Amino acid sequence: MKKVWVLGAGQLGAMLRHAGMPLDIDVTPVALDSQQAPAVSSDDIITPEIEHWPDSPATRALASHPNFVNRPVFGRLADRLSQKTLMDTLGLATAPWLPVEAATTSDELYRTISDRVLLKRRIGGYDGKGQHWLRQSEQGDIPADWRGAAIAESAIDFDEEVSLVGMRDRSGQSSFYPLALNLHTSGILAASIAPLARLAPLQAQAESMLGALLDELDYVGVMAMECFRVGDRLLINELAPRVHNSGHWTQAGASVSQFESHLRAICNLPLVTPATRGITVMINLLGIERDDRWLAIPEAELYWYGKEVRPGRKLGHLNLCAPSTAAMQAALLRLQPLLPTSYIEVLDWVNRNLP
Ligand code: ATP
Ligand code: MG
Repeated sequence: MKKVWVLGAGQLGAMLRHAGMPLDIDVTPVALDSQQAPAVSSDDIITPEIEHWPDSPATRALASHPNFVNRPVFGRLADRLSQKTLMDTLGLATAPWLPVEAATTSDELYRTISDRVLLKRRIGGYDGKGQHWLRQSEQGDIPADWRGAAIAESAIDFDEEVSLVGMRDRSGQSSFYPLALNLHTSGILAASIAPLARLAPLQAQAESMLGALLDELDYVGVMAMECFRVGDRLLINELAPRVHNSGHWTQAGASVSQFESHLRAICNLPLVTPATRGITVMINLLGIERDDRWLAIPEAELYWYGKEVRPGRKLGHLNLCAPSTAAMQAALLRLQPLLPTSYIEVLDWVNRNLP
């Protein structure tokens, strides 16, 4: 039995563990703050569920193991400054940006980037945390503790947000899922839809961008690329060197999920371009109590993470997979009364974007 250790014990680690079972891969997530170094053997494999981790006896033991896959990649991608620099070096389009240094002034940012600037903490931001908007009209200024610790990005008036999940094996062969359409509200992913025929014309562009990054990094496993679509052009928003929330739809909508693809790649098992079935809608369950009535919807699969309920927190997700738009609309109609009214906008967005 192959053994894989996951650095981090959140929902991504749990879903990797779930995906390992049918392949008889023993996946063990390890809490980042664990004070005990796990007993890792020399032929075990290590992979993280996050790109930046605190120092602890457990993370030290795992991150220094020779079978930590993609080890050098995390330093480059965990810091938004080196991540953006990498994209610039490869000539890949991103939102125009500048580092925020000790002497950087907001006037300089307004002059050189845009009158609307999004500051992003270089390290550790997620789900819209670690973001700060500066607007010239409001004379927004750089908070003191963001100097030297952030980048500044131009606000992008995007048409919509899409993401690509790709994977690469040890021989350097890459494959990709179809693009997903994503809705973010307050910086946090609310829902994804995939596949969508109308996004197919962007697929080759997205694959060549992520493919270039995977090759440059000599990457093994699953990586996600979040993009803004502006007309027929993609700008990369950010990269995640791991399984990603916008790929959760693959659990229901693809023959091999992103979690299994990642395990296959790091365990040197065959990778495929997964076949998709029908259309899948992924809805994040944010800050709401679990409702077992969701399970009465035949198209719905629930992943509940078992975390304490807190406002806005990612507590689980629903995947709805249906063979046709009509069947998906019917499933969404059954779901709507089982979600709080705050979900009306999300469900409207989904309905508007179904084929
Ligand atoms: P994640 O949880 O995916 O790691 P994050 O908090 O690290 O997210 P981003 O993905 O960079 O941060 O941004 C979150 C969201 O904020 C984006 O999906 C997008 O909706 C919005 N956003 C980010 N950058 C910009 C930008 N330059 N212009 C306009 N909107 C943006
Ligand atoms: Mg993001």
